[in-house]
Amino acid sequence: MILAPQNQDKTIERAGLALRQGKLVVFPTETVYGIGAASNNPNAVAKLYEVKKRPQFNPLIVHCANKEMAFKLVKVTKLAKHLGDIFWPGPLSLVLTCLDNSPICSLARAGLDSVALRVPSHPICKKLLEIAGVPIVAPSANPSGKLSPTKVNHLDEALISHCTEVIDAGTCSAGIESTIIDARNEAPVILRTGPITNLDIKNQTNMHCIYPKSKQGNSPIAPGQLESHYAPFANVRINATNKKKGEIFIGFNTPNADLHLTETGDLIEAAAKLFDLLHVADKMNPISIAVAPIPNIGIGEAINERLARAAAPRN
Ligand code: AMP
Ligand code: MG
Repeated sequence: MILAPQNQDKTIERAGLALRQGKLVVFPTETVYGIGAASNNPNAVAKLYEVKKRPQFNPLIVHCANKEMAFKLVKVTKLAKHLGDIFWPGPLSLVLTCLDNSPICSLARAGLDSVALRVPSHPICKKLLEIAGVPIVAPSANPSGKLSPTKVNHLDEALISHCTEVIDAGTCSAGIESTIIDARNEAPVILRTGPITNLDIKNQTNMHCIYPKSKQGNSPIAPGQLESHYAPFANVRINATNKKKGEIFIGFNTPNADLHLTETGDLIEAAAKLFDLLHVADKMNPISIAVAPIPNIGIGEAINERLARAAAPRN
């Protein structure tokens, strides 16, 4: 059931209890809508993989109500404490070594001895996590490989039919998935770009993010990150400077575009609108979706990473 915002308190409470009982719930975060399951319940986690059709080698992010709850699950490094103090609650996930007696089931970690942790700032999400009382795994609430939802009207009917509650809190403010940092060592290793940029980290900590050694070039990689992802039904053509016949043109400061990520060059606005405009364009059934070039600075790097995957050849 999708509920109106005025009835939220009761629904958040029901949803928290449902999570604790091993049910699936869709809820807002500051990044995108998530589909949650109790991380200590392998049956619930298995159901989550199944309804999302998510490959089981792709580990999930564990969401906690606060830093204390998160840090009880892992070996806390100096770097993690530093980043957690600055950026939590917020759109940052930290990969850390899991404690041996951790309640997080191995399926949620895809069998790894590490786990990605996040403390979201969205007030409804925080309240829900407090009521659930257990860490919650919550990937984006879309079928695997498809566009992430930033509004409830982006949600896939078949997917939500498996969920006990759907909490509607309007549009997600950041609009793209959390930044993922491997914080197991001394330097921050960036596994996925996101709303917290390399520059934010540099400015706040004086540390430079490094890219994983396994990957050539400047594109971050984490296990389970597949080349084609965030894909609308239509093909996507990136770095487009004009509109071809049958295309919908999404602009960035582009006066003649059909839809506008921003008309003032604001990258944060563009990130927040990215998935919504891809959803809107897709519903118009174009031959393809053309997207204007996005400056590759700050959060623009995360936008370009999502667009490159949306445009990648489909599996
Ligand atoms: P999402 O697909 O948005 O739910 O985000 C999950 C991402 O977090 C996946 O792409 C994983 O690669 C990454 N992730 C989760 N757990 C780990 C981990 N233990 N080590 C490295 N990356 C992880
Ligand atoms: Mg996702």
